[in-house]
Amino acid sequence: MVTTLEKVDVVTVGVGWGGGIIGAECAKAGLKVIGLERGKSRGTADFSLIHDEFRYAMRYDLMQNLAKETITFRNDRKMRALPMRQMGSFLLGEGLGGSGTHWNGHTWRFLPYDFEIKTLTDEKYGKDKLSSDYLLQDWGVTYDELEPYFDKFEKMAGISGEDKNPFWGKRTSDFPTPPMKKTPILKKFETATSKLGYTPFMLPSANLSEAYTNPDGESLAQCQYCGFCERFGCEYGAKTTAEVTVIPTAQKTGNYDVRFHANVVEVMKTGNKVTGVKYIDTQTGEEFIQPAEVVVLTSYVMNNAKLLMVSGIGEMYDPDTGRGTLGKNYGYQILPGATGFFDEQMNVFMGAGSLGMTIDDLNGDNFDHTDLDFIHGASMSITQTGVRPIASNPLPPDTPVWGSEFKKQSIYNYTRTLSIGGQGASIPHKENFLSLDPNYKDAYGVPLLQLTYNFTEQDRNLHKYLTEKSAAIMKEMGAKTVMPGNPLTNYDIVPYQTTHNTGGTIMGADRDTSVVNTQLQHWDAENLFVVGAGNFAHNGGYNPTGTVGALAYRAAEGIVKYSKNGGSLV
Ligand SMILES: Cc1cc2nc3c(=O)[nH]c(=O)nc-3n(C[C@H](O)[C@H](O)[C@H](O)COP(=O)(O)OP(=O)(O)OC[C@H]3O[C@@H](n4cnc5c(N)ncnc54)[C@H](O)[C@@H]3O)c2cc1C
Ligand code: SF4
Repeated sequence: MVTTLEKVDVVTVGVGWGGGIIGAECAKAGLKVIGLERGKSRGTADFSLIHDEFRYAMRYDLMQNLAKETITFRNDRKMRALPMRQMGSFLLGEGLGGSGTHWNGHTWRFLPYDFEIKTLTDEKYGKDKLSSDYLLQDWGVTYDELEPYFDKFEKMAGISGEDKNPFWGKRTSDFPTPPMKKTPILKKFETATSKLGYTPFMLPSANLSEAYTNPDGESLAQCQYCGFCERFGCEYGAKTTAEVTVIPTAQKTGNYDVRFHANVVEVMKTGNKVTGVKYIDTQTGEEFIQPAEVVVLTSYVMNNAKLLMVSGIGEMYDPDTGRGTLGKNYGYQILPGATGFFDEQMNVFMGAGSLGMTIDDLNGDNFDHTDLDFIHGASMSITQTGVRPIASNPLPPDTPVWGSEFKKQSIYNYTRTLSIGGQGASIPHKENFLSLDPNYKDAYGVPLLQLTYNFTEQDRNLHKYLTEKSAAIMKEMGAKTVMPGNPLTNYDIVPYQTTHNTGGTIMGADRDTSVVNTQLQHWDAENLFVVGAGNFAHNGGYNPTGTVGALAYRAAEGIVKYSKNGGSLV
């Protein structure tokens, strides 16, 4: 039996950064909001005195239970896709705050070039710079239009940074808090990159350099540089997450509630409107319908696309004809870099998730690509996140992989190894897409999402170029031995790379080439909004969440307006 609940103004599917921001902004505007979250509640107190690397970093305690729901994967259409049975290449979130609970906190604004990438690339390099197999397109909004929302996200989150990057878009205000501490390791990178003619600056960080109270009155503490940040919750309340900022803000209005263990399996649609969602209580197995005036999908890239697909909303992308938009332009990132082995000992075990220095000289179109066989680039950073003993075992090339020499080298190099790496942009390709798997279902009987993905020639060329640049920086930093990253081969879903998945539900100004409009309102259902990195028409050279946050604030403004006036927002 399915129980139909009382109608609300807004329901969000998932309560991470996207769901939290939409929840807070709509509740502040007087709308009654319910957040449906398939995971459990959690908060700062749950992480007190538990720096358990095995539990959180190796066993993924805070993340999605793949025994209940996963995705299937293949490199190309000729292969049979198989289920991802262990977390690997990326880590899917679950529970209050989503992946934001255990993120590092690198908080970027995508470059002005990113939002108008097709127009600007064609203008400067001609229409044939890339083959037509690359589905490059503008996002339908400009950086300048998004700037107020970036500003709002950063002020809400208290981001620590310095306005010293000559390449990023114009900012209306400086960072709310000063940059984090510049450690001797970061100074080494600063000196080397400056000597090579680059412009280093402190990485914008959501691990706060000092205590901060945001415009909504939420207080954050100062980071303790504890080194157990990425994949861990913060026991000090010093890492900005949705559950210490926007979610309490929403709750204080009296207009907001979260229902836990609520796994949404369908978005219900009649005519050109949605009527609500169907969910299963994962503890009791009971089914519910939650009617709502507005439905907002904030369940991350994968589930936003999957829910639209299983609900039959929008036209599926067909790689043979190029028709359809749902599932199109899936993007990932490439990670060029280099490791250096030094003689001197360094305090690598101290750190924070987003303690780092970056150069942007090799990102976006910040350098001339006329004679290069790729477009775009990467932000290149050194980060000092705190090297933990189980996962980190850096060894110079040709070291035996067992025995006394292995042990000796392992202990010696633990505090004498540094890495630099890039977040390399990914340009969408017609063969990289999301769809529904025809064979496998999740524990609730819903088909699994299928990922078809491989690195492209553009990716390989970009990776090669930036790996060489990284090795040169590492040499300049004084490493005794420099080990450049391996050349890019086929995409492998097993080793961890990055949780920066994008696309599948892309935004745009044209309904024929995008799933949602520039306010993230679905083209085929005016009261359905889809929010997250799935909206990105390509993946840029940074971590995504700053841009997700800005898009979410813009969408929230649109939802409040829609709730008053109805109709299309564009
Ligand atoms: C280890 C790690 C480090 C990272 N570091 C950074 C970083 O430094 N900088 C950066 O920019 N980004 C980083 N990211 C990425 C960042 O965490 C995500 O971009 C961000 O959290 C996405 O927010 P979201 O709200 O779109 O999705 P999520 O945070 O994934 O939240 C989605 C929520 O929806 C829920 N949900 C899903 N499906 C359903 C359903 N059917 N029914 C109900 N609920 C559902 C999930 O349980 C989850 O809680 C990192 C990610 C990881 C894993
Ligand atoms: S490094 Fe800082 S922000 Fe991260 S978990 Fe530790 S104290 Fe919190």
